[in-house]
Amino acid sequence: MSVRVVTRIRPLLKHELDKDIIVTAESHENESGTKGRPTVVRIPNPKNDAESFSFQFSSVYEQDATQQELFEAEISPTVKQLFNGVDLSIFAHGCTGTGKTHTMRGGKSLADRGVIPRLLSAIYRRCKKIEKDSGGSTQVEVVLEYYEIYCDRVYDLFEPPEKRTPSGLPIRDNNGKTVVVGLTEKPCATLKEFEQLYDQANTNRSTSATKLNAHSSRSHAVLCVKITQTTETTIRISRASCIDLAGSEDNRRTDNNKERLVESSAINKSLFVLAQCVDAINKKQSRIPYRESKMTRILRLGQNNGLTVMILNLAPTRAYHLDTVSSLNFASRTK
Ligand code: ADP
Ligand code: MG
Repeated sequence: MSVRVVTRIRPLLKHELDKDIIVTAESHENESGTKGRPTVVRIPNPKNDAESFSFQFSSVYEQDATQQELFEAEISPTVKQLFNGVDLSIFAHGCTGTGKTHTMRGGKSLADRGVIPRLLSAIYRRCKKIEKDSGGSTQVEVVLEYYEIYCDRVYDLFEPPEKRTPSGLPIRDNNGKTVVVGLTEKPCATLKEFEQLYDQANTNRSTSATKLNAHSSRSHAVLCVKITQTTETTIRISRASCIDLAGSEDNRRTDNNKERLVESSAINKSLFVLAQCVDAINKKQSRIPYRESKMTRILRLGQNNGLTVMILNLAPTRAYHLDTVSSLNFASRTK
């Protein structure tokens, strides 16, 4: 059971007004005396520019890092374990506008594709190989669930928004598993089919978000890929969950209407529990407080030998200074 925490610093955007870059990455020599990928993020102290803070990570991806580079180094190596029965959770964490959706979903072009389409592509390739190598005696089935958690309520993203019940779907414990009752399960056999389902569901996400008067950055979007491998005598089930987390910005400073406060406290609480779980896993504590928020409870974080990759997305400029420091503090606790 382990968690890797990596950061990704996005490039300056074309239309970004603030061009004052304050977040930098540093490489440190490893034992063999060669410099590898950076592992340290440095940022000025918001209270005193002459001082700076530094934070250590497993890896730091700088603005020129490609989608492929990140996927190959961080996610690709986990696919084998996923098929060995280990659950995988991949989180994108950070403030709104720092590149979470870009990292997880990415753009339309092949090169721009994010973690999710690349992971699905790798999963389908492996399914084919397993079926072929076993001469057809092992069958692999892929089933998708896609939902968002908004104010601690679960909404199915495979359902059109008008079919939503405002109170969300109930969750129940069933044979030691936590299930969301009534969630759509979509069997999905090919990458092409996946792309169609995923694109369609993402339009549900944005329309329902405006309807609920919430922006999609205020909810956690969870895509769960359930893989079932069946032979004559065995069944092996594992899940890969990809989570585009709600924006972690401090809303106390920007807005304080009542609805916003309810949203913010739900977001803060679930991110706080997530940080605690990750911390407990890394410290190899026997008690992981995953039951304390809906998201970690459904994901059963830290159960089933799970592997977790947390990608902390950062904007490079001064406009995000305080939020970046608080994100870095969050992530350094989860390391
Ligand atoms: P978030 O989901 O965290 O709110 P987005 O993924 O929507 O942030 O990113 C904000 C903007 O920055 C988008 O226009 C996105 O295309 C751009 N962006 C983010 N990361 C990168 C990157 N690594 N390379 C190029 N553009 C990026
Ligand atoms: Mg986003």
